[in-house]
Amino acid sequence: MRALTVSPGQPNSISLHEVPAPPKSDGAVLVRTLALGICGTDREIIAGRYGWAPPGQARLVIGHESLGRVEEAPADCGVARGDLVVGIVRRPDPVPCPACAAGEWDMCRNGQYTERGIKQRDGYGSEQFRVEPDFLIPLDPALDRLGVLLEPTSVVAKAWEQVMRIGARGAAWEPRVVLVTGAGPVGLLAALIGAQRHLELHVLDRVREGAKPDLVRALGATYHAGDVGALKPDVVIECTGASAVVCDVLRRSAPDGIVCLAGVSSGGRTIKFDIGGLNRDMVLENHVVFGSVNANRRHYRAAAEALAKADKSWLARVISRRVPLARWREAFEQRPDDIKVVVDFAEP
Ligand code: BGC
Repeated sequence: MRALTVSPGQPNSISLHEVPAPPKSDGAVLVRTLALGICGTDREIIAGRYGWAPPGQARLVIGHESLGRVEEAPADCGVARGDLVVGIVRRPDPVPCPACAAGEWDMCRNGQYTERGIKQRDGYGSEQFRVEPDFLIPLDPALDRLGVLLEPTSVVAKAWEQVMRIGARGAAWEPRVVLVTGAGPVGLLAALIGAQRHLELHVLDRVREGAKPDLVRALGATYHAGDVGALKPDVVIECTGASAVVCDVLRRSAPDGIVCLAGVSSGGRTIKFDIGGLNRDMVLENHVVFGSVNANRRHYRAAAEALAKADKSWLARVISRRVPLARWREAFEQRPDDIKVVVDFAEP
């Protein structure tokens, strides 16, 4: 079968080539790949700035945003031949730490977790892959090719769950005004969940026109290009990782406000910031700022529900480009109108 692989740490080593069939040790369920979503993490891995090959291997099969159809599965394992499925990205550390032992590998405390397509485990960017039954999420068949949005949705489903859990520290706290920064796939999917919660939604991005503002407005949200004025949100979900945006949202919350940092910055840039002023605001107004990464099974399930009840034509517009596997290189080119780019394995 063909697979997209990289040599981690080596810039632009990505290639499509023949590899052996997926090993049984990856799991008892054999899945035929339909699509693979591409995100910023994949681009970092391809640039040689992130990613680790499995022990004893030089190359890593990339891809963590999967979608496929089950070809072979043991009886009564929770999925059956023909099911539309997505593979979970992270695996618990082997120790395991208390979080991984409780099934919350997204909160791993010793850093020894592994991730398919990212950290020490081959990913889903091959024509077939194998998965342990417990690490597959079955999807509503009506989602069809839109199911490739499950993994990025799981990440924001976790962010939202954590916001609500933190908010529960105040007996009467209810969010009303929400700001999502960034109208890329993660921001848009965070906004979708906010819209499903019937909150007053604001989304900030740099662009002034095109699909992003339209998609935001279609959710009933207000789109802001470059600046949100005097807005004081109860909840911020920061999805850009851009230093200037992060600095801005840190000091923008309403009293008891919660800021979730969900975008990964590249780091290495220094910016002047009044940390004493931040401290003053945070203490005097009970602010919380927290980071959120990855997702566990509970979040994938919540994400599958969110996608199942979303408007399919809206989800279809979030996938701005589908590239057949034979032209895979184009999927990694960044084009101005891109939102979510997907490699289509079903159209070789
Ligand atoms: C993935 C997460 C992963 C994170 C860090 C993200 O792109 O969606 O599942 O935990 O990268 O590796």
